Amino acid sequence: MYLSIHSKQYITLLLFMGSIFLPASYAINECHEKKANAMLEKKGEVYFMFQKPETGLYQLSNRISIDKILDRNVYAYANEASFSYFIGLNIPFEVLDHPGDVDFDLNMKTWEDLLMRDLTESWDFYPTYEAYVSLMYYFEDTFPDLAEIVKIGESVLGRDLLFAKISPQVNERRPVPQFMYTSTMHGDETAGFILSLRLIHHLLTNYGEDDAITDLMNNVEIWICPNENPDGTYRFNNSTLAGATRGNINGVDLNRNYPNPVNDPLQVQQPETTAMINFTDTMNFIMSANMHGGIELVNFPFDSWTSNQNKHADHDWWEFVMYEYVDTVHAHSPAGYMTGMGDGVTHGGDWYVIYGSRQDYFNYYKSCREFTLELSNQKLLNPALLPAHWDYNYRSLLNYIRQSTYGLHGTVYDNETGEPLLAEIYIPGHDSDNSQVYTALPHGNYNRPILEGTYDIRYSAEIHNTVTITGVDLFNYHTKNIHIALGAESSGEIFEISLSIEGEGGKVLPYSGTGYFNDGANVFLNAIPDSGYQFLKWTENGEIVMDDDEPAGAHYAFMAEDARELTAHFDSISFYVAFNVSDNLGNSIHNATITLGDIENAPGNYIFWNVDPGTYTYKVERSCYLSDNGQLFAGNGNVYIDITLNNLPGDVNDDGQVNVSDVVLMIDYFMNQEPNNFCFINGDINGDGLINVMDVIKTTNLIFGREMYSPKTP
Ligand SMILES: [Zn+2]
Repeated sequence: MYLSIHSKQYITLLLFMGSIFLPASYAINECHEKKANAMLEKKGEVYFMFQKPETGLYQLSNRISIDKILDRNVYAYANEASFSYFIGLNIPFEVLDHPGDVDFDLNMKTWEDLLMRDLTESWDFYPTYEAYVSLMYYFEDTFPDLAEIVKIGESVLGRDLLFAKISPQVNERRPVPQFMYTSTMHGDETAGFILSLRLIHHLLTNYGEDDAITDLMNNVEIWICPNENPDGTYRFNNSTLAGATRGNINGVDLNRNYPNPVNDPLQVQQPETTAMINFTDTMNFIMSANMHGGIELVNFPFDSWTSNQNKHADHDWWEFVMYEYVDTVHAHSPAGYMTGMGDGVTHGGDWYVIYGSRQDYFNYYKSCREFTLELSNQKLLNPALLPAHWDYNYRSLLNYIRQSTYGLHGTVYDNETGEPLLAEIYIPGHDSDNSQVYTALPHGNYNRPILEGTYDIRYSAEIHNTVTITGVDLFNYHTKNIHIALGAESSGEIFEISLSIEGEGGKVLPYSGTGYFNDGANVFLNAIPDSGYQFLKWTENGEIVMDDDEPAGAHYAFMAEDARELTAHFDSISFYVAFNVSDNLGNSIHNATITLGDIENAPGNYIFWNVDPGTYTYKVERSCYLSDNGQLFAGNGNVYIDITLNNLPGDVNDDGQVNVSDVVLMIDYFMNQEPNNFCFINGDINGDGLINVMDVIKTTNLIFGREMYSPKTP
């Protein structure tokens, strides 16, 4: 299939003021031009190959969309306008089969099909467009506390651009780093599309089950967009990926469509690009990656420059995390996988320079660390190979998210008010090209991944003084919490303030464990009890420094002047439940026996101490009275409960019945025989304080039903 340019003849491109002159001996292959035009007409883009020119590739890559360079072969896409520019250069080329035109079964699944599948196992399919959208909203419906689907805009043809936000308490903005994965901005590069969907599913189904996943999700807010270019992926209709294209429906390569630090993009900004820019302007993404295909490697910033021309400030950190990614992949994949550019890792511009990439947009303009993840040599990957590609990559995908939790973390706030500030965190002598990071409101938190080392760090915000702290040691796979109050008289020294919790029952803010504050900072600590617990006290070296009698409660504020070790104490909330027992005339009844839940108090003890929150049954018993029972709720403080015990008139022997044996006992009583267990209150039916023949008559009437007995009433 290769052209005659494979012979020893080299094309030499000479560039003079932007014009390229070629030896006239190279005639354009008319057959290929015809094939190219047919592909352009059908798909709006053409895929072709030519030999890498000696010079002038930068200028060329600014016009056509270079897909990859292997050995000396340049693989490229062009739309109609850019291809006619290319034709004008008279460079020999060969039209290749379009990667989106495949002859294998794409195993397309409708939403009805997917509902029948066990998604924990079988991700060897591609969804129809409707199935994709339904699956995204299914995640939200099934895991409403963990997942929210956010539509950030629409493609040219009105298809949805969707993110899954994955975060415990998904509706809250937590003070944790924001992280982003996206895929398939090149519509025909589809492995990442499925791996992204599967990653969403994997995170959601393992939260609370797998400790590492749970911890990861607790410490990061994860955003995943499986498909940034649905018009390219579903190029011909919603039911198949067959014929997928790199460009969007306008034939524009979206990965050349972002603002870049070198020159203006030639193409008008596309709706897919605008949606992503507008959305991410509202976020503070710390790290991200963008999934592609066509080769197997990781490509880290910058794309706009070779590493000789301009390295990213965190170039060494990039190599560290990139080799972490690829080494882990290699440990779990067959030999040869992800070995593009030799070992699977390349600086973007060292492979080939492009302008307008999303990677450079995020790194250069958004202070976000983004790399380009090339998942499979086959762009439109055979779906039968998707499970294997997941297996090669998922550990690395999770590891990379976790890197956003390491490095420098903390908050920046106003020293007087404690209000979080929008601040810049800049590392003098290290940061360049916007590698500094910023805090995010409403919490004022920041996160700065960085390779281990010793750094000075400068904190600044509008209207406030600047604080620079020096000689901070940072370590790989560790997090250092540094909280900076601006407005404080601060020399730049930081003090270690360790915060721990005695036992369980709550959490402490702004961190747990070891953290630092700048000298002179007003330190504001907060101890937040879990449900069912209460704050007791802050202690230091066993001494109480603040307890719950203080008006501020669990808030503890002091000025940072020295290292401190503080401990918050919580206790399970308990109440007392007090009973007041009286008869139906309002007279107190003594010596009743009360049972609350499983606890039976001694007779006469009407208070239950240290009751935990909850609902309890109770029973109140006293001889000569009918026992009373019921249910009470304890949970909002101490409980006082009034109990009225009724008696049973006539039942002088307290057996719960009125019968002739009561009459016998009453006669014994007023014959002065002082019988045992005689219930006077039941015998004195007429309430005259005496038991005599009148009471016997009434009792007899009760027995024979001539009188309804009733409790005495006041
Ligand atoms: Zn791509």
